This record gives sequence, C-alpha cells and structure tokens, in this order.
Amino acid sequence: MLKLPKRDFLKLAGLAIAEKLVPPWVRARPAEPSHAERKLVVVTFGGGCRYQETFTPQGLRNIPRLAALKTEGRFFSNCVNSGVLSHYNSTSSIVTGNWQRVDDFGFDRAASPTVFEYYRKAARAPATDAWAICTNKSFASMGATRIRGYGESLGANVVLPKQLLLEAVDEVIKRDLDQGVADRENVLRQLEGILNAGYEGIGWTIFRGGRQLDRQVKETLKRGLVEYIYGPEAPNSGDELTFFVAREVMREFAPRLMLVNFWDMDVAHWGAYSLYLQAVTKTDRLCGMLWDEVQSNPAYRDKTTLLILPELGRDGDQDTANGFLNHRSGDASCRNVWMLALGTGLEKGETDRPISHVDAAATVAAALDIPTGEMQGRRIDEILV
Ligand SMILES: [Zn+2]
Repeated sequence: MLKLPKRDFLKLAGLAIAEKLVPPWVRARPAEPSHAERKLVVVTFGGGCRYQETFTPQGLRNIPRLAALKTEGRFFSNCVNSGVLSHYNSTSSIVTGNWQRVDDFGFDRAASPTVFEYYRKAARAPATDAWAICTNKSFASMGATRIRGYGESLGANVVLPKQLLLEAVDEVIKRDLDQGVADRENVLRQLEGILNAGYEGIGWTIFRGGRQLDRQVKETLKRGLVEYIYGPEAPNSGDELTFFVAREVMREFAPRLMLVNFWDMDVAHWGAYSLYLQAVTKTDRLCGMLWDEVQSNPAYRDKTTLLILPELGRDGDQDTANGFLNHRSGDASCRNVWMLALGTGLEKGETDRPISHVDAAATVAAALDIPTGEMQGRRIDEILV
C-alpha cells in the first residue's frame, strides 16, 4: 500500500501554486454557487485495456476492486470509442466531448474547448479547482486549448509526474556523495524501474509543449519528489506516482474537477502478456484507492462522482497471435469498452445501450451545471439524477 512518507510534497507546492497561479482577481472569489458542490473525477483506466481482461467472466479476476464496486455504481457495458485510437486523441475526446484528430504527441491542441475551460469560465472557478494528473508524458496540453475566449488561463493545472521525476533524477545525481554510493545506486535503480514502466523505454522524449507549471512550483515539486524517492516507500511505477500526486492534490486543493490518467498497462506494447495483466490489476487497485480517498476525504465524500473508463481497448487476438500488443486495428476489441460510474447523483444498475467516450464531457458539464459550446457527446441521464 502506498503511504506517503513525506507529507511536505505538494504541500509546499500547494502554497506556492496558490500564490503563483491564482491571479489576484480570482482570489476575490465570487460567492459559492448555490447548487450542490458536486465534484467530478474522471479516471482513465488507461493505456489500452480490452474487455476480455476486465469485465468478462474470465477477466474479473484481474480487477477485484472494480468487480466488487460494480454493484455499488452504474455500469455501462457498452462504451464505444468511435475516434482515433491513440492515447492523446482518445483522452482529449473524453475531456472535450468532441472526437479529436490532432497530433498524437500533444503538439497540437484539441479543436474544441475542454470541459476544464468551460467549467472555469462559467463558474469563475480558480486555477486550483481543475487539475489533470497524467502518467502519459505527452499530455502536457491536455488541460487547455487555444480556442478564442478559452485557453490556458482557464485550463486545468497539468501535472506530469513522470516528467517531473526525470528532472528529479538530475537532482539526485547532482546531490553530494554524503548519501553514500550504495544508497545512490538503490535510488537510481528505483528511478529506472519507474521510468521504464511505460513502453517507451530508454530514450523517450520529454514533450515540453503545453502548459508549464510555474518554475518555482516545479522546483518545489521536484524537491518533494527527490525527498519522496529517498523515503522508505517509494512508488514503483508511473501510475502509483500519479495516484500519489492525485491524492495529494485532492487533499490540498480539493478540486471540483479532475482528470486522473493512468497509463502503465500500455507496457503491453513490449509484448509481455503477464506484465500487461499485472498493470491491469495494479490500475484496478489504484482506482480502488482513489475511491477509498473519495470516501474518506470529507471534501469529497457524498458529493463526488467518479467516472472510470478505458480510453481505448487493444487489438483482438484474432488479428494476430498477440493482439494485446497494439491498439490500431480498429476492431471491436479496440473500440468497445465500458464505463463504471461511482458515487453521488446516479442510479445504481447497469446500462446496455451504447454510450461513447465523448458523452463523458457532456455529462460532466451537466453535472457541474455549466453551459458548453457544441459537443458531439450527449449527456448520460443515469448519472444525472
Ligand atoms: Zn499505446
């Protein structure tokens, strides 16, 4: 179980963010909206995950937490990704409500505003009220577009824990030798493990496009990471780090709208089915821990809806001997996944009619009671009761 040995991580950063990112005019915050402060957390069960390894009779053993939680929420058995089957576009479609077809490394922005921007603009919400915590390092621009009238000043704070971690490696290496060589080697081994948890491996690129956290905030985060890594319970994967950062953000800022992007199961591109299955089970565990946090955190309990969905599936075994490696065939096992909604404002049960990934943003906007521009997605009434 992940336990935070260094509570100061993000705490200091939080103060710094509050100081640095919240413009003075926002600090004079308008009165709280009169409707209930429903909070929304969208979690991508991410990296590419097939139905057959999850909500099928033979797959349930890989997802014990979600399998147990299914009856407590509303399960949508047919959630269809009709868009481009890449990580960036699929996730961007989830947060914009429109199918996106942009450069998949986040160099281009989405062609329609994100729900973060709609929310912050309509509710005049401060910068600390919308966050995207993403394992996928190419998601720097996931929080905002460049659409006129919207944009970064109204977007989500985007944290890429793995990128911060890489920069923290520099700090570790620069640290003086007082720590002892053995310790340093141990730390570097741990770092290596985390950095290799995605499929990119050595030589991966850091994408610097998109919103950069304020330099001082970033320095604080990096320092916190170094301290954390030196602690006794370092996370051992990118998604665990993402969970840890997400939980800290929830405890520090209690944002009303958050995207948590898990991604480790994309390790499947490397071809080891057992690693893919392990990642599925780890994601299940982290989703369960996020739900536990919602339940135990007074800022979230009884007022939060958690939407958990794979952003895409993976190729079916009928395409090749090892279909799980990729997600480019466009067949049903790539497109047809599921969504589990937990928490407040929903009717428990199961829905078989097809919904789609773009419906998530439309539903989030409706739950937040904010207007949006045109969306291809439709609101899902079962989670708007
Ligand atoms: Zn992939």
